[in-house]
Amino acid sequence: MWLNVDIPTKKVTIHEDDCSYIPKGNSRYKKLNGLLRDGGWLHLKNREEALLEYEHNYREYERGYCFTCDTSAK
Ligand SMILES: [Zn+2]
Repeated sequence: MWLNVDIPTKKVTIHEDDCSYIPKGNSRYKKLNGLLRDGGWLHLKNREEALLEYEHNYREYERGYCFTCDTSAK
């Protein structure tokens, strides 16, 4: 699973590994497997780990739902 951490909008969205929204590489202010000025994409083993990461570190962030890969959003 991937956690998209977006600092400017204070929003965290969980994505499946094969979601088409996962970027192929780093961008200027956001990177894969790390955080830059605007956040980043963190890779977690599974949905439980992703939710734990969200609850422990981004509790004050809004939880976003991906309409492409998150079945709970449908
Ligand atoms: Zn997705």
